[in-house]
Amino acid sequence: MNQQNNCDVLIIGSGAAGLTLALHLAKNADVVILSKGQLNEGSTFYAQGGIAAVFDENDSVQSHVSDTLIAGAGLCDESAVQYTAENAKACLDWLIEQGVDFDKEQNQQGEQQYHLTREGGHSHRRILHAADATGKVIQTTLSERVKQHSRIRVFERYNAIDLICEEITDHDKEKQCIGAYIWNRNTEKVESIYAQKTILATGGASKVYQYTSNPDVASGDGIAMAWRAGLSCSQYGI
Ligand SMILES: Cc1cc2nc3c(=O)[nH]c(=O)nc-3n(C[C@H](O)[C@H](O)[C@H](O)COP(=O)(O)OP(=O)(O)OC[C@H]3O[C@@H](n4cnc5c(N)ncnc54)[C@H](O)[C@@H]3O)c2cc1C
Repeated sequence: MNQQNNCDVLIIGSGAAGLTLALHLAKNADVVILSKGQLNEGSTFYAQGGIAAVFDENDSVQSHVSDTLIAGAGLCDESAVQYTAENAKACLDWLIEQGVDFDKEQNQQGEQQYHLTREGGHSHRRILHAADATGKVIQTTLSERVKQHSRIRVFERYNAIDLICEEITDHDKEKQCIGAYIWNRNTEKVESIYAQKTILATGGASKVYQYTSNPDVASGDGIAMAWRAGLSCSQYGI
């Protein structure tokens, strides 16, 4: 172990989740983002169809919630669905502010409006998209914003191995996370990064399947690191 870095917030993962959080937190904190491969390599880059939100005045959040619960066939956490549907439009407005260029069309009054598509399970048109490469546009736009930010440092080809935890004095066996051990793939050395807060934004684990459209980095590392640190991962069945 040869090198040590410090920051206020360490975000492990550079997809839509990690980059969005970094841009919000960097208003008040020094942020480090780790990416296992190149900055843009993750599921976000490959997402195609688009993102659902209530933009049409004839649509409603309640209808979005109801469609999602039906499509989820009993597997959805209803409060999470409600929260997501209620906040989806604000999140898309934020992406638009960052420069994400969703497709538009002209309405009958000759005004520009977002072109909404309708996908399986939706009873209304509510999918904003950028042609058929929505994720690529989101990922590259947010990456540019992050690279320009003076309080965000990006470490590419930095593979988080495990969280660094220490026992909190006077709290029986309670631990707190103070950073992470990293395999620096550029130097082939292990480094440590210490942070006030560490965020796991490492995406999913779909690469467990032999045949999948998910990228190699979707290997569930964050779930494994959280589990090894003693966190409950019951939603993943472990
Ligand atoms: C082909 C495809 C099409 C899709 N289409 C749609 C769609 O139309 N609409 C929709 O809403 N969703 C779609 N999705 C799903 C969507 O892309 C994901 O839900 C979303 O992008 C997840 O974002 P994320 O930031 O959580 O994860 P990701 O974008 O996967 O980012 C994870 C990040 O974590 C990093 N990472 C992982 N492990 C480590 C580690 N050990 N150390 C350091 N970094 C690590 C990776 O390098 C990556 O930067 C699609 C997904 C795929 C694969």
